[in-house]
Order: sequence, then C-alpha cells, then structure tokens
Amino acid sequence: MPDTATLPAAASLKAEHFDVLIVGAGISGVGGAYHLTKQLPGTSFVVLETQESFGGTWLTHRYPGIRSDSDLYTFGYRFKPWTSAPIATAAEILAYMGEVIDENDLGRHIRYGHRISSARWSSEENRWTIDATRTDTGQAVRFTASFLWMCQGYYRHSEGYTPEWAGMEDFKGRIIHPQSWPEDLDYAGKKVVVIGSGATAATLVPAIADKCDHVTLLQRSPTYFIPARNANDLADTLRQLQIDESWIHEIVRRKILHDQAVFTRRAFEEPDIVTKELLGGVRAHLGPDYDVAAHFTPSYRPWRQRIAYVPDGDLFKSIRAGHASVVTDEIETFTEAGIRLKSGKELEADIVVTATGFHLNVLGDIDFTIDGRPLDFADTVTYRGMMFTGVPNMVWVFGYFRASWTLRADLVADFVCRLLGHMKDKQAKKVTVALRPEDKDMPLLPWIDPANFNPGYLMRGMHLLPKRGDKPEWQHTQDYWNEKDQWPAIDLDDRTFVYG
Ligand SMILES: Cc1cc2nc3c(=O)[nH]c(=O)nc-3n(C[C@H](O)[C@H](O)[C@H](O)COP(=O)(O)OP(=O)(O)OC[C@H]3O[C@@H](n4cnc5c(N)ncnc54)[C@H](O)[C@@H]3O)c2cc1C
Repeated sequence: MPDTATLPAAASLKAEHFDVLIVGAGISGVGGAYHLTKQLPGTSFVVLETQESFGGTWLTHRYPGIRSDSDLYTFGYRFKPWTSAPIATAAEILAYMGEVIDENDLGRHIRYGHRISSARWSSEENRWTIDATRTDTGQAVRFTASFLWMCQGYYRHSEGYTPEWAGMEDFKGRIIHPQSWPEDLDYAGKKVVVIGSGATAATLVPAIADKCDHVTLLQRSPTYFIPARNANDLADTLRQLQIDESWIHEIVRRKILHDQAVFTRRAFEEPDIVTKELLGGVRAHLGPDYDVAAHFTPSYRPWRQRIAYVPDGDLFKSIRAGHASVVTDEIETFTEAGIRLKSGKELEADIVVTATGFHLNVLGDIDFTIDGRPLDFADTVTYRGMMFTGVPNMVWVFGYFRASWTLRADLVADFVCRLLGHMKDKQAKKVTVALRPEDKDMPLLPWIDPANFNPGYLMRGMHLLPKRGDKPEWQHTQDYWNEKDQWPAIDLDDRTFVYG
C-alpha cells in the first residue's frame, strides 16, 4: 500500500507515495503495469492518465476507419494472444487492452483524468515529486515516486499539427484535423480534400469515399504502401489445426518478425528491386493506365519512413471506383471555395482534412527539474533511447517506427523490472546513467539519423530531443532484432550505471 507524506515545499498539498509512477495509460503504460505486477509483485505503483479512459492513441483518434497500420500479432503484447485479423480497428485494440486490464486487475492502479504538469527530482529525498491536475474538478494533486516510467508516447494528444497556409481564413468550408474529428461531422454528398499521404490519409479516404461526393487525396509527395489481404495464412492454418492460441501468437509473431527482418535487410541492400516490388503491388490494384510514377513513387528509399499496409487494397479500390483520386502538387493558397495549387489547378472543397501529422511531445509536456534546475532534454545523451545522462530514476518508452511499437515497450518493461530488482538487491535508492571516461570525446549526434528515418514530426522537433553518441549504448538504434538479444544481457554493474 502507498504511504502518505506531507512535503515541506507545499504544506497544503498531501502527496501519495508510490515506488513507481507510470505516466500514460496507452499500450506502453498498460503493458508496464502488467509487467510490474508479474515481474516485481509487491511493488506499489500508480498509472496517471490525462484522458478519461485507457488506450492513448486508440482513444484519441476517432476519425472514420481508424485502424492500426501494422499487424496486431506484433503490435499486441507478447503475453496476450491476438486472435483476429492482423490489421485491427481502434475499437478492437481498445477491447484487447481492456481485457488485459480486467484479466490482470490493473484497473485499481490507474487514475484517469490526471494531467501531470511538473516532475521535480530531489537528490536529498531520492524521489520525484509529481504535480497533476484533475481534469474533472481542476483540483491540484501531488504524488511522490521513487521511479518514473514515462509511457506518454511521442505526440501531443490535445491537438494535431496543421501547417499555416495562405488564405486559410478565406475558406468558407470546414478545416478539420483527424486527431480532433467532430463526432457530428456530416460529409455525406460533400467534396472533401484530404491533405497528406501517410497512413492516416490512406485510412481515412476509403472509409469516407463511398458517402462523399468525391474525396481528393492531396499530397506534396508520394508514400510507399503495401496492399495486402487482411489475413494471416499461417495463423489461419494453425487455427484449422486447433493449435492453442498462445502458440499461434508466438509462432506467427516469429514468422512476421522474420519476414520483416528479411524485408528490412533487402530494403537496404537492394532498394531498387524492393521499390519495383512495392510499386508492382500498387500497379496490380490500379491497373496499367494509372500514373503510378506520379502518385505512388516516393523519392526516398523504401523504409526511410514507415510503410503502411493498405488492407485488402481498400484505398486503391476507392480510386478505381472513381470515388477518390490522388493529386500530387503543392498548395499555393486556400480560396473561398477550396484550394489553389502551385500548378494553377483548383480543387473545390466543402471540407478540408489536414492529415498532416503531429506535434512532437517530449516527455508529456511536463516541466522537469533536477534539484531545482530546469531540465532541458536536448542537453542530455540518451542511453539506448530509454534513459538520459543526469536524469535519475527515469526510463522513457519510445517504441519502434519500423517494427511494431509494442515490441520495444515489452523489452523496455523487462529492462525496467530488472533494473528495479537490481537496485533493490543493492539497496540503491538512485540510478543515473553517465558517460564513462572512454565516452568523453565521443561525437554527439542528433537523436536519430535523418538519412535513416525522417518523418516530419521528428524533423520539426529534433532540437528538443536528447543527443546520441556513436556507440551502441548511447544510440537509439530502432533495431528490434539486436535489442531483443542484447538487452537481457546488459550488465547493470557496467560503469554506465551510477548507483547511489
Ligand atoms: C493513428 C495512429 C496509428 C498508429 N498505428 C500504429 C501501428 O499500427 N503500429 C505501431 O507500431 N504504431 C502505431 N502508431 C504509433 C502509436 O502511437 C504507438 O504505436 C502506440 O500506440 C503508442 O503507445 P504509447 O502508450 O507509448 O503512447 P500513446 O498511445 O501516445 O499514449 C500515451 C498516453 O499518455 C498520456 N499522457 C501524455 N502526457 C501526459 C501527462 N502529462 N499526464 C498524464 N497523461 C499523459 C496520453 O493522454 C496518452 O493516453 C500509430 C499512431 C497513430 C497516431
């Protein structure tokens, strides 16, 4: 049970104390709660979540058609079998997470409607003080925790990113960001322009195209897509053989991960052949007369940005049926009636949807201080993309972009539980990562190599993110296949870890 303490700094606020405080009840935070209860039973912990329920991404995004763009055998937790089609709707993912919470009695640890605004580390007390506001009553609440597990994702949930374009204020129709989709939005019979070329645009267009007068997907540059049947043959065969679901989950995960490793290697070693295959898949859906070169041929190598699945080719079906079309051009200005493009072409619109991405949110928009000094994460160096030099007792979950996010959330959870167990054995109250003497002259580089992976939200926010070094310990590698083998073998008594 948590103990209660009164902090001298603000005598009026009582603080509840927990061994671990998890920020966020998305797929990472709920997974963290599960692993803590299984791997370190008896640890007191709380999960604080701004929203009114669990799910994170899958609760926030409510636009028509919202679904995963990677398969749920690997996006699902390793401990909870996924038993349906690989690409899942948000509702299915929420139901799955709800089962994890119910089956493991995690609900009693989660406090919804708690927005954390600040976290202060005190070396004197060896603990964090976390201030939050209750979103229902506006009441200020305070917690203390020995360890912070940051599962707040990577983007701001309150609003999406919409660039400023000339003439937006003249437009007579509605401009909507998919992250704040109005429940009552009536798009039946309307002309809709969806700006963007990523997974959100590709999901939204087929989901609304049948009802609209017409949907135009307006993109500055094309993206790679993999059209594929929303089924997994191996899983279906194993089910016919009445294999246990937990076995199916593990076997299908291994098969998918194996295939992805092969695909990733080929994308680097023979990008031209892989590009040809990807474009061939699109061409097979759109027919020989469609201008695939103009609208579906990106200028970058495959895999530099996440490649989204188009389940059952639904986007391409809408295009073939004439309900949707793609325009590859740039916006000159909004007009009263729609959008004028740089080519001089005009797109009429009643509704413009800006599927233009996210605001990067570094550590939950929380003000951090360490012993009274404001913490700027850009001044720190990351330890394997999860800890930061000079920041004690804190781990951040930043998942994979190329593989499913949750694969890394599970690995980080194993690491946190092992680290907490190790601290207990050593009777240490504090752990910080620090550069070793041999790391002192190491070149410090941006968080992620833009030549390797460069989505807009990361490029816009790179200056806010920690630095990386040029050795594996100080890198955020995005390499599941290495990390799954290396992390369990991390020597927690290596000089990188400084205990106190
Ligand atoms: C539309 C969409 C589709 C995606 N599809 C996939 C996919 O198919 N596969 C894949 O691997 N990845 C996908 N992603 C990436 C996705 O965000 C992650 O995979 C994953 O859901 C992130 O989970 P999370 O729990 O780490 O963070 P989130 O889902 O972002 O949840 C974080 C939670 O923390 C809470 N929080 C943040 N700050 C605070 C604070 N200060 N106080 C209290 N609470 C706070 C938020 O309210 C939120 O509920 C998708 C992303 C989007 C937007």
